[in-house]
Amino acid sequence: MGGIQYLKGIGPAKAKLFERLEIFSVADLLHYYPRTYQDRRENAPNQGLNPPSLVVFKGRVLRAQTIPARSVLIFKAFLTDAQNNQIECTWFKRRSFRNFRFDPFAALKKDFKINAEIWVIGRRESRNNFFDNKITVEEYYPVASPDSAWHAGRLTPIYGLTEGLTNKQFRQFMHEALTSAEAQGEPDILPPALADKRGFISSTQALHAIHFPASLAELENARARLAYEEFLLLATAWGVKRTQTKAVAKEYTYQIHKNLLTPFRQNLGFEFTNSQKKVINEIFTDLQSPLPMNRLLQGDVGSGKTIVALSAMLLAAENGYQSALMAPTEILAEQHYLTFQKLLKKLKVPVAVLTSSTKTAERKKILAALADGSLPIVVGTHALLQDDVQFRNLKLAVIDEQHRFGVRQRGKLKEKTARLDLLTMTATPIPRTLALALYGDLSVSTLTELPPGRRPIQTRMADEFQANHLVAEEVQKGRQAYIVYPLIEESESISAKAVTEEFEKLKTIFPQFKLAMLHGQMSRTEKEKVMADFAAHKTDILVATPVIEVGIDVPNATIMVIENAERFGLASLHQLRGRVGRGQYDSQCILVAQHKGSLSRERLNIICETCDGFKIGQRDMQLRGPGEILGTRQSGDFEFKAGDLFKDRNILQWAIEDRDELLADDPLLQKPQHAAFKARLLELYQKNWHLIDLS
Ligand code: ADP
Ligand code: MG
Repeated sequence: MGGIQYLKGIGPAKAKLFERLEIFSVADLLHYYPRTYQDRRENAPNQGLNPPSLVVFKGRVLRAQTIPARSVLIFKAFLTDAQNNQIECTWFKRRSFRNFRFDPFAALKKDFKINAEIWVIGRRESRNNFFDNKITVEEYYPVASPDSAWHAGRLTPIYGLTEGLTNKQFRQFMHEALTSAEAQGEPDILPPALADKRGFISSTQALHAIHFPASLAELENARARLAYEEFLLLATAWGVKRTQTKAVAKEYTYQIHKNLLTPFRQNLGFEFTNSQKKVINEIFTDLQSPLPMNRLLQGDVGSGKTIVALSAMLLAAENGYQSALMAPTEILAEQHYLTFQKLLKKLKVPVAVLTSSTKTAERKKILAALADGSLPIVVGTHALLQDDVQFRNLKLAVIDEQHRFGVRQRGKLKEKTARLDLLTMTATPIPRTLALALYGDLSVSTLTELPPGRRPIQTRMADEFQANHLVAEEVQKGRQAYIVYPLIEESESISAKAVTEEFEKLKTIFPQFKLAMLHGQMSRTEKEKVMADFAAHKTDILVATPVIEVGIDVPNATIMVIENAERFGLASLHQLRGRVGRGQYDSQCILVAQHKGSLSRERLNIICETCDGFKIGQRDMQLRGPGEILGTRQSGDFEFKAGDLFKDRNILQWAIEDRDELLADDPLLQKPQHAAFKARLLELYQKNWHLIDLS
């Protein structure tokens, strides 16, 4: 399309200004999307889009006059709008003493002739909420002038500017660029097969609509199309790079013997969901392929990631390899261990748990068994990363809730797992992981369905008294309840004490019911007994620390009260409440919180509003700010012009899939139908990144 200076009205000086915005070509200009929009439509404007003090109207000039004053010149025009409001518009100009003849209002006088129709965009002069009929004009466009059509009377783009360029100019040049692109019949850059498959509007349509949308719906459509294009271009650039950096093949292979997998499946007591089958398939394919696996498994709380992971670990065990599952907290590690133990008992596959509170003698035994290879499966915390933990034959590492590990641990993890098959799991995918997927370092599997029979959990806030009342109501109906207290400083012993005190109090509040207590300081046999009693409905109310976060599955439990809910992370709250809603009854989760501020209230509101773990992760990030979550990477790496890694995660997933399809078909983009796409790819990435070589 050529350099920006080929547009009418853009000379070398203007071109310099555009360069400051990284706009070098007409294509760059077209892809410089509006920062926001104003609703300047005459009817039914969407006021939510506009700043509160903005006034937009089409008026008719009643009269206009220049008012002389001591040091300034004032021009006033009075207009009526469609509702017959009289609006007073004012302009000020400094008086020029050099050139008395010069009339700074000449243009205004020409435009504001009596009865002329004019679009006016201005600001209310006072900060009053009620309508103020005096405004300061920011932009105006005579209706009769042909170019008013793209400045007013429509959804109007507002651009990020640099000194010397105005929105008005931007719109003019953009209009120019669009017209010339449309006239030249620029080819769509999307590979036609992919555009067809996804049913997107054409590139020119999308560009037109993102700058000058006819409606908000059209705008969203265009944005989605351009987000896809943006993701696909970046994903392809990284995909090409990935195939060009030599990956080191692994020196081992997997055979699917099924001598463990088949009995495992038969002993589960339920069928895998279709989603689990699909994902297990993807993982097994990775394991059997020559390059090490690096796959992210995402799935909401309760979608059944654990047995997917265990299936992979059993495949490793069938092949005589060791595997390790690492969780971010001791409680999670313990819980995974209990689950694994239960599922592996019949298979006679040994499993152990290693954390920093594992007793020395026990630790010694585990380390020896890992070193001689007699322990095929181990579960633990970052204690597994210590240097004296040596495996004989470790081939597969599974990391649960990877984002909850600190940055330093992640580094260590990376170093330790570099040559292994790696499966990471998360219920709350964050941009970092999604971006890695985009960059091609990571493949993604998603569990899209929950096991059958799950019911939405009604969640709300209440005070202690109401909460206890609701618990009593459920238990009287024959249901069971959880009352959960937070961990204090991750210290199980202090938490155990706190929960013991509360437990004594609750016994006096509910004398008619059977209560039991569960916390991390209890011995394994004690814990197992408490859980078994609760599952058998020998007890009504289970008072617990978050040790119940995973692993407990009692369909008759229909209410969970979470005390001091403000102390929990959103992901934990979401995970915890997944313990109810597992049977045929409607279930509820009651959050009892000490409000320390509006932020904590807002966070809890998120949990009340949605049961979708992805949304919860997204809102959590918006509240906490991306910096905290993105870790050491520059947040600029994740800035997209049209796309939003969270909102558009489905589109992102499409782009990643389609990138793989595209490069499988045409690794160097040599086919003629990919020429336009390739040209844009090179234009975008070659100059900055020296990333890709498509020659
Ligand atoms: P998450 O994805 O949150 O880690 P889990 O792996 O802990 O979920 O699974 C949640 C619960 O669902 C567990 O009790 C597990 O036994 C059960 N579960 C997993 N898969 C299925 C299935 N296909 N059918 C029925 N229950 C299942
Ligand atoms: Mg889990």
